[in-house]
Amino acid sequence: MGLPAVRENLASVRERIASAARRCGRDAAEITLVAVSKNMPDSLVLEAVEAGQRVFAENRAQELAGRLRRLGRDLEWHFIGHLQRNKVNMVVGNVALIHSVDSKRLLEAVAARARDIQMVQDILLQVNLTGEESKYGLEEGEVAYVLEIAAGLSSVRVRGLMTMAALADNPEASRRCFRRLRELRDRLEGEIEGTSLEILSMGMTQDFEVAVEEGANMLRVGTAIFAT
Ligand SMILES: *Cc1c(COP(=O)(O)O)cnc(C)c1O
Repeated sequence: MGLPAVRENLASVRERIASAARRCGRDAAEITLVAVSKNMPDSLVLEAVEAGQRVFAENRAQELAGRLRRLGRDLEWHFIGHLQRNKVNMVVGNVALIHSVDSKRLLEAVAARARDIQMVQDILLQVNLTGEESKYGLEEGEVAYVLEIAAGLSSVRVRGLMTMAALADNPEASRRCFRRLRELRDRLEGEIEGTSLEILSMGMTQDFEVAVEEGANMLRVGTAIFAT
C-alpha cells in the first residue's frame, strides 16, 4: 500500500517508450515491451496481465516451466537467459522467441529439439558487443558464420539480434553498443542473401529509451515494471 503498483509502473514505462518514439519520429506501435518477470511472484505477473501486458520473459528454464504450469499458456513467453544444452527441451516449443542463442552448439541443439517435436523455433542471436568476459553472446565477427549455419537448419528461424549493454548508471553509456547492434544488423542483411533480421532486442530498465532512439523494436524491462 502506498507503493507504486505494477499497473502504474507499466503505464509509466509505456509513456516513456511513447515519448522516446515520438522524439525520434518512430511509431511506438512497432515496439514490443517484454516484461521480464524473473524472480517475481506470480501475483505480480497477474497484476501486469490485468494491466494489459501479454508478453513476458524468464531467464531460467526451471522458472519458465513453473510459470507455464501455473499461469497456463495464454500469455506469450520468451526466454532471455543463457540456455544450457541439457535444458533445451524445457524451452524449445514452449516459448514464442528465444532471445539468447549464443553459440553454434546451442543453435544446433535448439534446431535438433525443434525438429524432434516438428516445429520451427523462432530465435535471436545474442551478440556480446561489450567484450566483457562475464557476458554470454557471439562475438561480432562470428555472427555471419552462425547465420549461415542457421540458414541450413529448417527447424529454426533467426528473426534478429539481441544484446545487453554494460551495467551503467548513465543510459547514454549504452548508446554506442545499441548503435553497433543496429549497424551489424543492417550490414548482415545486406551481405547474406535472404536474411531478414527484423527484430532488435535491446534496452532494459537502465537504458530502454536510448534503445528506442537507436532502433530497438523489442525492449526487455523488469525492474521498472515489477519493483513495487
Ligand atoms: C534481467 C534481464 C533484463 C531486465 O533487466 P531490468 O534491469 O530488470 O530491466 C533484460 N534482459 C536480460 C537478458 C535480463 O537477464
